Amino acid sequence: MSKGKILLVGFGPGSGEHMTFRAREAIEESDVVIGYSTYINLVKDLLRDKEVIRKGMTEETDRAVEAYEHAKKGKTVALISSGDIGVYGMAGPSYEVLFQAGWKPGDDIEVELVPGTTALSSCAARVGSPLTHDFCSISLSDLLTPWPTIARRLDAVADSDFVIALYNPKSGRRRQQIVEAQRIFLKYRSPDTPVAIVKSAYRDLEKIQLVTLKEMADCDIGMLTTVLIGNSSTFFKEGLMVTPRGYANKYENITGSVKAGEKRGRSLSLGLDGWKASIKEALSTATDATNIEAILEAKAADFELSIEEIFLALASSEESSQDDIVLAHQLEREEGLKAFTRFIKESPNQDSPMNLTIGEKRTGQTQLSAFDANNVCFSDNNIVLDNKEGITANIHTAAIQHIWTIEKDGITQSIWLLDKKGNSLLYTYIRRDS
Ligand code: SAH
Repeated sequence: MSKGKILLVGFGPGSGEHMTFRAREAIEESDVVIGYSTYINLVKDLLRDKEVIRKGMTEETDRAVEAYEHAKKGKTVALISSGDIGVYGMAGPSYEVLFQAGWKPGDDIEVELVPGTTALSSCAARVGSPLTHDFCSISLSDLLTPWPTIARRLDAVADSDFVIALYNPKSGRRRQQIVEAQRIFLKYRSPDTPVAIVKSAYRDLEKIQLVTLKEMADCDIGMLTTVLIGNSSTFFKEGLMVTPRGYANKYENITGSVKAGEKRGRSLSLGLDGWKASIKEALSTATDATNIEAILEAKAADFELSIEEIFLALASSEESSQDDIVLAHQLEREEGLKAFTRFIKESPNQDSPMNLTIGEKRTGQTQLSAFDANNVCFSDNNIVLDNKEGITANIHTAAIQHIWTIEKDGITQSIWLLDKKGNSLLYTYIRRDS
């Protein structure tokens, strides 16, 4: 009996010209072709003399099981999917089914994955060049993913200024997901952000709508639509959607001369090394009267990074020298909490009111100036800050994940309690204005 084979084939957006050579060949060499009805219809010209098994949308694992059964009988079976079968497709479920059945690579049944052009590439090509800078994809389908997970990812990428491709944006039953996605994006992005809505790219009923983020959810969107949302530099021009590659940071124009301070073929002056150096430089001129904490917080706010990233830049050993008067040190957690207590109880400004800051400039902060050391109390679970007007602030000790000190001329200036993302929960510092 001949060896069985499973071909996992992505045939691209759905037009013959955009199918890869190998995808066509793979379908042609198979005995059995299994796929969702719409997919079978899209490749029907290649299916003469083949056993064709049409499956419904929700019978995903059935499709994989059936492919395995046929392959065990020595058949070559193609499991087909539009786009790339590894992208929101059958490749993952197929491997899961195979592993469950005890299959391993090198066994009697060979498995070959044939990649295809995924919807985000084909849809992007129809509207210009929206994916020229960092992008990601999120599926709005909540059939297999809980909505809170989807919402958390939408929030993270909206905030991070990725270009984004939304797969499965809407169906007959799922109509509100795109509305929620729009609401989350509008928290961070301009209502005028360019959006391309591409339906059935490279297929008969192709439809393209170039709109803005505020109009997105009201547009014609369905099961066969991919939505591309631009980043803060994406623009529309002459009916095309383009995201700049980023050269504007470095060159006067795309073909022009190199900007002052930048070098061809080298990282930007604000590349990794240059950025670290810029933080050190900003603090190198600090005098006794300088509010170091304000500089650190301003940098975090300007660059939209956690305060810990600023500390890490300051602490990076490269280029660090004896002359650095402001230094950042990370403390181990237990040791850090003790150091924090000590700093409060023994601080040099013991006699004057304590300075405590809850939060930081970037994330929002509260200054608590009328607190003396005796009004700070530590319990197992909380740091409780109490003032005379009866206002109590509570910091959960469990939320404190990283602790840093900032030193100048060998003297601790401030201690920072950070959460797991590296944002400040609370810091205390020595007064410089008294
Ligand atoms: N494996 C496929 C994705 C399957 S999920 C791929 O790699 O492209 C199904 C979703 O893909 C649809 O809801 C739609 O968002 C997108 N999609 C697939 N083909 C498309 C096409 N021709 N035009 C626009 N979107 C498409």
